[in-house]
Amino acid sequence: MDCIFCRIAGGDIPAEILHKDDLVVAFRDIAPQAPVHILIVPVKHFSNLTEVNGDDYEIIAHIFKVAIELADREGIAESGYRIAVNSGKEGGQVVGHLHFHLLGGRQLSGDLG
Ligand code: C5P
Repeated sequence: MDCIFCRIAGGDIPAEILHKDDLVVAFRDIAPQAPVHILIVPVKHFSNLTEVNGDDYEIIAHIFKVAIELADREGIAESGYRIAVNSGKEGGQVVGHLHFHLLGGRQLSGDLG
């Protein structure tokens, strides 16, 4: 398995894990772009959002639940935060395993690229 996020989800590569359950794993980004920068990643491998369909939408809903709970735990729920997904090449995606960025702890730009 040469997918880096599959390997993190499987425990083969160390990461600062903040949450793990049967569906998702959340860990701190290794190159944080904000004081809080967490990646929420489905355990099941999807290359990007294009591969999500059918019952898998329940996983996406669960990712948002975990992200909202993590924002609260990290103390950024009141000040505000961003949840972002880069999907596909022109979406700016670099790692080919679907992931949601949770960013906060500073004033974020309104520029979405
Ligand atoms: O959305 P995109 O694919 O551009 O983002 C990938 C993210 O994964 C980057 O923010 C990068 O710092 C992070 N990353 C990580 N741990 C790795 C490899 C990449 O946190 N081992």
